[in-house]
Amino acid sequence: VADLGTVGAALSSLKSLFAIAKTVSVGEIRTELQAQILDLQERLLALQEEIGSLKDDNRALEERLSLREMEYRDGMYWDGDDGPFCPACVDGSSIRARVAKNSANGFLVCEVCKGSPVGATRPKDW
Ligand SMILES: [Zn+2]
Repeated sequence: VADLGTVGAALSSLKSLFAIAKTVSVGEIRTELQAQILDLQERLLALQEEIGSLKDDNRALEERLSLREMEYRDGMYWDGDDGPFCPACVDGSSIRARVAKNSANGFLVCEVCKGSPVGATRPKDW
């Protein structure tokens, strides 16, 4: 597993390689430098992948955390004044799915599961 120490080591290696590359013209040294640069490229690609994976994990955790902080009232979930969110989707699938008013018939409908929250009270101004 890569860490910040690895990133720091890779960056300082790149710095010293850059300094060396400016002064050499001998074929052998050039070959060695190319090998080291390729190695560093591989490590940086691995780090890039890991950062992407960590960002995905972080997004998922933030999503779960935001679900835990929601308040259940009048048959639906609310995040402060933001909402309402579908109780079936929040409780069943851990999805932050909005409930909207169907403009044709006035029913409350989840934008994800298309269900209507049972027993939910229509929010004021709807
Ligand atoms: Zn739903």
